[in-house]
Amino acid sequence: MSADGKKTIVISNGTLIDGNGKPPVRNEAIVIQGNRIKSVGRLPGDVRIEDRDNVEVIDAAGQWIMPGLIDAHTHLSYGNPKIFGEARGKGTTHPEFNTLRAARNAQQVLRAGVTSISVPGGTWFTDVAVRDAIKLGLIEGPRVFCASRMIVTYGSIEDEEPSWVGTPDHSIGVLCNSATEMVTEARRQCKHGVDFIKLADSRSGEIQTLAKEEIAAVVGEAHRRNVKVAIHSRGAASTRAAAEAGVDWIMHADLASEADLEVVAKAAVRIVPTATFVERVLEIGREVGQEQIQISLERMKKNMDGLVNVLQRARAMGIKVMCGTDCGNYSWMPYGKMHAKEPEIMVRYGGYTPLEAISACTKENAYAVGLENQVGIVEAGKLADLIILKKNPAADIRVLQDSANLAVIIKDGKRVKLDDQSVDETQLTFQEAVA
Ligand SMILES: [Zn+2]
Repeated sequence: MSADGKKTIVISNGTLIDGNGKPPVRNEAIVIQGNRIKSVGRLPGDVRIEDRDNVEVIDAAGQWIMPGLIDAHTHLSYGNPKIFGEARGKGTTHPEFNTLRAARNAQQVLRAGVTSISVPGGTWFTDVAVRDAIKLGLIEGPRVFCASRMIVTYGSIEDEEPSWVGTPDHSIGVLCNSATEMVTEARRQCKHGVDFIKLADSRSGEIQTLAKEEIAAVVGEAHRRNVKVAIHSRGAASTRAAAEAGVDWIMHADLASEADLEVVAKAAVRIVPTATFVERVLEIGREVGQEQIQISLERMKKNMDGLVNVLQRARAMGIKVMCGTDCGNYSWMPYGKMHAKEPEIMVRYGGYTPLEAISACTKENAYAVGLENQVGIVEAGKLADLIILKKNPAADIRVLQDSANLAVIIKDGKRVKLDDQSVDETQLTFQEAVA
């Protein structure tokens, strides 16, 4: 029994994929005490598995053990997918309801084997509240590392209304049209407890809406306060500017040229391509046709081509790629179902091996949740976030997408109860949402 009165957990047998990219190996025992992994490999002499009063044994014979998944790009509080019976168009206008829904979303995410998420943007400080409630043990959920409303200028993504409307309090963007306003907003968000600031350039990257000096001003302020900075950047110029201004990671980067990516590589800035959302729109588009979809499929095809190029070039150039999905940004991105689609895309289109893709969505993604070298690896001393699978993800990476393949989820040394809530029947499907 550990100091906190919890039983020691011993995972005996099983094949270990440790997250470091090493080939799977047969494992004798993983010992978890408190919220950390005590040992991996041989069972230590001071742990007696016969002592069932103090030791819980999980037999993983014939199964695969790996770090808990991390999604480097998920939104909990955008108000999507809509819920059956909910008033249309008012999804995010009620902060109280929205917070309860975000808490529920977080639970769905954890039950899909995702033990940490990075949340680049949301409404109000909803995600900060959910993060803290999970941290304090009020509710169950993954580790959350979050931003608040994304900082935008006129013409950026999420500045959709006329200028006399701007970005009302319930929107996910907040207009700041000078470096001074951006720094003030960054300070306000830091005061309210965000882990990082999200900046956002134009939606598709056809124009650059943030100047390098503005990005650098926010980076300077945030870093001085030990807060990170991420940016939505599809354009070539904005991606280059973001890398030069010292952001911590770039989301998308699809239009970056070889020369731009060289700047990114030199600055050692990471990229979260987030091809999952684009691939999903293309899939739905093939199913229901352009008329039903409010996004141009032609533009999405261009984005996808750019993302595949970025994935391939990043791998060749040694740029660290993190795995994100954009779950929760639209009604066709439900929680708990898409979080491991990005590694499949990396393997299928990007030229990554399944083990490289597994490292990307575990070890590498730890950076996006502020826990580099703490989670994402199954090793002695690390935080005990891991999953046990009934099938081998190194043989077929798609195994990670089906929660039916999950035998056990352990987050922070605690076993997550797997029950019927792993499927959320309240969420509307895309077809129901547009009907
Ligand atoms: Zn997003």
